Amino acid sequence: MSTSATTTTEGETTKPSGTYECGCHCGYIKFSVTLSPPLPEYEVVQCNCSACTRFGYLLIYPDAANVKWHNNGRFRCAAYQFNTKGKDQLFCPKCGASLAIDFRDVRKPHTYGISARTIYGVNLDELKYKKFDGINKVQPVGDLSGHYWDEGKEEMK
Ligand SMILES: [Zn+2]
Repeated sequence: MSTSATTTTEGETTKPSGTYECGCHCGYIKFSVTLSPPLPEYEVVQCNCSACTRFGYLLIYPDAANVKWHNNGRFRCAAYQFNTKGKDQLFCPKCGASLAIDFRDVRKPHTYGISARTIYGVNLDELKYKKFDGINKVQPVGDLSGHYWDEGKEEMK
């Protein structure tokens, strides 16, 4: 894992953090994330909702201020919205890698859900996971996947 763990000392408070270089598979989108506490102490969320299942998310939740997009990477992302359409599921438009959730106005302050799978050199077996029952706890409950647009009838099925 390419970490650069740092310790910031402000008076008597010590807050360890780690900065991680992340990106898609092809290299078109790159960004870095600073997390506190650093991995592997940080609890990565493993959610069972239909979106997390389909997109393979293992989520960390940095404030937007702690996400640095390189080469205008945020604007290079393709976005998918579903349900309330209040957030963007982000993907690389070139290689299709699943990257993150931009919570936009849904969470204050502005927060991202970044898939730990995007961290260069990450060892998923070394991470600490916190399971979340999203399919039953996030409204509307249930599996929202599998609906499709019927071209002939012009309606969602
Ligand atoms: Zn890519």
